[in-house]
Amino acid sequence: MTSVGAAPGVAEIAERTRAFVRDVCLPAEQRFPGPELDRGLRAELQAAAREAGVFAPHVPVEFGGRGLDISGWSAVFEEAGYSLLGPQALNCAAPDEGNMHLLEIVATDEQKERYLRPLAAGDVRSCFAMTEPHPGAGSDPGALATSARRVDGGWVIDGEKRFISGADGAAFSICMARAQEGATMFLIDAENPGWQVGRPMQTTDTVFAGGHSEVAIRECRVSADAVLGEVGEGFGYAQVRLGPARLTHCMRWLGLARRALDIALDRAAQREVFGSRLEELGLAQGLIADSVIDIEASRSLIRWAAGVLDRGSHGRHETSVAKVFVAEAVWRIIDRSLQLTGGDGVTADLPLARFQNEVRSFRIYDGPSETHRWAIARRASRVRAGERETSPD
Ligand SMILES: Cc1cc2nc3c(=O)[nH]c(=O)nc-3n(C[C@H](O)[C@H](O)[C@H](O)COP(=O)(O)OP(=O)(O)OC[C@H]3O[C@@H](n4cnc5c(N)ncnc54)[C@H](O)[C@@H]3O)c2cc1C
Repeated sequence: MTSVGAAPGVAEIAERTRAFVRDVCLPAEQRFPGPELDRGLRAELQAAAREAGVFAPHVPVEFGGRGLDISGWSAVFEEAGYSLLGPQALNCAAPDEGNMHLLEIVATDEQKERYLRPLAAGDVRSCFAMTEPHPGAGSDPGALATSARRVDGGWVIDGEKRFISGADGAAFSICMARAQEGATMFLIDAENPGWQVGRPMQTTDTVFAGGHSEVAIRECRVSADAVLGEVGEGFGYAQVRLGPARLTHCMRWLGLARRALDIALDRAAQREVFGSRLEELGLAQGLIADSVIDIEASRSLIRWAAGVLDRGSHGRHETSVAKVFVAEAVWRIIDRSLQLTGGDGVTADLPLARFQNEVRSFRIYDGPSETHRWAIARRASRVRAGERETSPD
């Protein structure tokens, strides 16, 4: 039990989040038919989350958050993900949450005040710009083509980006470009005339604030202090961001998969076919049991990987394993839930078809399943060959 005056622990914040999602986010979904979260609704939900004491669980206390570690996030983010609106309400949605984590670790004190503080407070949004059109960076970041050249007093950046979540409406971007010394991260303000947000890309999902856009970067001048971390260390920092970021997607989408199963369980308890309730028929029970197994296995992998990250490792192997399994498991769980609800499942009367559209692209972003499987298999072969006794980092 929490003593009077003590900061609430993970279990208490998770429980508060569960109640907040049930009482505030689920009713608000009626006002969010998609395709994009209304700015006013986001601000309203964030104010309510602050009031409920669940805002920014992942953010350090000095920046207004709850200061939980990554293992703590896993319990709370799963609860938040039960509603499509939960992560936005708690300010723990992608890409902002990953950017906050990166800024906390890599940014200078001045950069933290300028970029992290307003982002953590929910006053602004941000984006992360890595992916490029062919033949540039995609699943192979090594193909990074956006260039950064030194000029008097700073840098000039040129290139094309696409699929940049939240670029439309973001106050700033963390942008990856190739300098002579190697890949480098730059903080680019949205009002920089060289940062030109272009065509919104029509994807199947709707919950990312600002959608996903193409961006043209034309003669984009930034000052020397726009470099995030060290010049040439961009790929290393990408690992700092992407390991936790792919795991937090797993946490949030697991919450949504649980919701899908709950919808199916309600239906299976009520619907009678062939003289039995659906929940009593063996083939339906098989679908339910397989989803319960997928949920438990996903949660275990997430907590295993989170523990590795909390111990200071990059957790490349563990986050890859968790990402592949959870991205595919949440799809299976939602698909089985849809099947159990019959024709209603594919209508807009139930949210299941929409949930499928929301989660499908998770098997592609933050590393496609094939890229992760390829990396996992190569590590396994290296371990077998005795190059390393444990997973490399
Ligand atoms: C909804 C959404 C949001 C996104 N948000 C962002 C964002 O905010 N910022 C950003 O920078 N990017 C973002 N992306 C881009 C995303 O990271 C890329 O789509 C992803 O890295 C894959 O790159 P690509 O699309 O160029 O596919 P490609 O690199 O062309 O890969 C195509 C396919 O090749 C296969 N493949 C890849 N590697 C291997 C391998 N080793 N062996 C066998 N097959 C393989 C996979 O099936 C893969 O899907 C987003 C994408 C989506 C869909």
